[in-house]
Amino acid sequence: MKLTDIPGISPARAKALQDSGIRTPGELILFFPRNYLDRRTILKIHRLQGSGEKATVIGTVSAVGESGFGRKKRLEAILQDETGQLKAVWFKGISYFRKTIKKGEYYAFFGTVKRFGRFLSMAHPEVEQLSSTDTSTRDEHQRFAAIIPVYPGNQFFKNTYITSGLLRKWILTVLEWIAVPEFLPEDLLNRFGYPDRATAFRHIHAPDSPAQHKKALERFKFEELFLFELSVVTLKKEVFDKAPGPVMSETRPLTTRFFNEVLPFELTEGQKTTLGEIKHDIRSGRQMNRLLQGDVGSGKTVVAIGSMLMAIDSGYQAVMMAPTEILAEQHFHSLSEWLEPLGVNFRLLVGNQKKALREDILTDISGGTADIVVGTHAIIQDATRFHRLGMAIIDEQHRFGVAQRALLREKGENPHILVMSATPIPRSLAMTLYSDLDMSVIRDLPPGRKEIATRVIREPEREKLHRFITERLEEGGQIYVVFPLIEESEALDLKNATEGFDQIRVEYPEYQVGLLHGRMSGQEKEEVMRDFKMNRIQILVSTTVIEVGMNVPNASVMVVEHAERFGLSQLHQLRGRIGRGSRQSYCMLMTDVKQSREARSRLGTMLETGDGFRIAEADLKLRGPGDFLGTRQSGLPEFRHADILSDQHLLEIAKNTALEILESDPGLGNPKHAALKKVFLPYLEEKKTFFRMS
Ligand code: ADP
Ligand code: MG
Repeated sequence: MKLTDIPGISPARAKALQDSGIRTPGELILFFPRNYLDRRTILKIHRLQGSGEKATVIGTVSAVGESGFGRKKRLEAILQDETGQLKAVWFKGISYFRKTIKKGEYYAFFGTVKRFGRFLSMAHPEVEQLSSTDTSTRDEHQRFAAIIPVYPGNQFFKNTYITSGLLRKWILTVLEWIAVPEFLPEDLLNRFGYPDRATAFRHIHAPDSPAQHKKALERFKFEELFLFELSVVTLKKEVFDKAPGPVMSETRPLTTRFFNEVLPFELTEGQKTTLGEIKHDIRSGRQMNRLLQGDVGSGKTVVAIGSMLMAIDSGYQAVMMAPTEILAEQHFHSLSEWLEPLGVNFRLLVGNQKKALREDILTDISGGTADIVVGTHAIIQDATRFHRLGMAIIDEQHRFGVAQRALLREKGENPHILVMSATPIPRSLAMTLYSDLDMSVIRDLPPGRKEIATRVIREPEREKLHRFITERLEEGGQIYVVFPLIEESEALDLKNATEGFDQIRVEYPEYQVGLLHGRMSGQEKEEVMRDFKMNRIQILVSTTVIEVGMNVPNASVMVVEHAERFGLSQLHQLRGRIGRGSRQSYCMLMTDVKQSREARSRLGTMLETGDGFRIAEADLKLRGPGDFLGTRQSGLPEFRHADILSDQHLLEIAKNTALEILESDPGLGNPKHAALKKVFLPYLEEKKTFFRMS
């Protein structure tokens, strides 16, 4: 059956449908309504309130005519039943309706009823001509007074005139013609009270009641989540859980010495639990693939070091990778403090090193003299050869993909992988995104940390901010000032970092002011950062390059200019740069007096909480998962009907059901799962390609 077999679909219309991705009648029924008009309430005219209620009215048109001139021109028709009169008005499509609405004929009107003085009125009602108003034609009335699906109509099919009404007709035809096979096992349908697939399509395109539609839609959501979870469970069992990994059982005592002698503080509960989970993984004989989520400042670096030392203790090398050179360099410096006393040999590998030095480092790595290599993600792309790579730490990046992990695998003997992220995400999202990773979470922060005081400051109060900053500087504190853009943009008249830098230098002549932005070379950036760390610079003016990971405990004030232009997670990350020392820290969010509702909501959340998990959740709600994660590369599966945020509960059910079915029937060989298997296998293949594992 072809699209053009359906009455009313001309070759031109078929082409328009095809261009929109609807190629067959079967795909036509996958096109779900955008919303519904509930036209079921038929009222006699004297029962109408005129308070904006929606109703269907059946009657005879007793008068019809145009009135007004020019732009005020309109068509009016009086619909009359035995209890009263209603005036319908059209401001658009006048010539069309003048032909359609005829005096003395019978009609059903559906629309919003309003009262203007004595008149009840309906603007632009939905109209259907009837053969009679009496009950002998009840069927006809009922067909109109139903729940009517509304499809994205003609505007969707750009140049071709395809209305919602036409789509409805065609889809109903298809539903009568084609047989829709079921693939969910019958016992599941019974358990959840879902209609079979064919019925579910009818309940989507022609529901008798909202409840019926809701259940049918849930079935389609469940269906896709269930297939997804089946593939997740299968892949995890077949592929990820089977990858062998180096067995590490601590034959040298560096780890113990690190925790007992070098580390100046007690581990938090979250750090202990996570290290325990990692220890368990690396002894298991299978490769660790673990995501560590912990807020900024929760102490993930210590966990990373502990993990790397465990690897070294067992005779392996470890790498630690950061998204930028600045961060890699900073990691390198903080490692020095803790690893030097242990006599661990660690090297920094970044892009801007001299050739001779680079050669030397590479030799160290391939020869096995280097225990730890710190660098950017480029480490795994480069010609780097490891002697015996056993552990890879990936910092501040939750988007480290499967492809990159495959590259890593080639560098070593299936090294254990720990991905660390400071952007915590809700469980349902983590479940779908990182289905191949095990998860650790650090929820607690190291003790004794002072709460950061956060304020929203408006432009007219800038003088107060100025005095405040001066006081903090006089106490010996340091200040971050962050701007959203590097250069002036014509469209948005923002103060930018360079301009801000010049101004701040004038305002605080007794202090050293530094500038940091993305267009500087790695070396320039590092110099400025080092100067700030050493307190040779007191005020650091910067773009968001300082966003992640930078650690200067003496800096106690973060001023964010044009705070309304930053995303919520970004603001949280920025705020995480302070509150790292013994001083009371302050986060000053500068804004214009005017701001959008969303911006106000973001700033409100910043004032309300410092909990990264709550902030991430609020951010996710405001932006949606695609934006939150940066769509394409996020690896987020695209669901047609389900929404991983609002359907979290259904996702859990789908997961449990998938686990249960694969537990009792691992290969789906049971005849009652035959139809499911037929749909599932191609789906699984697709997923495997996605994971580059087939
Ligand atoms: P993040 O998770 O953001 O990477 P860091 O690892 O940079 O956090 O740690 C933030 C700060 O907290 C560092 O100065 C670190 O030395 C300190 N820290 C980490 N763990 C503890 C702990 N258990 N007790 C006290 N301070 C800690
Ligand atoms: Mg960190």
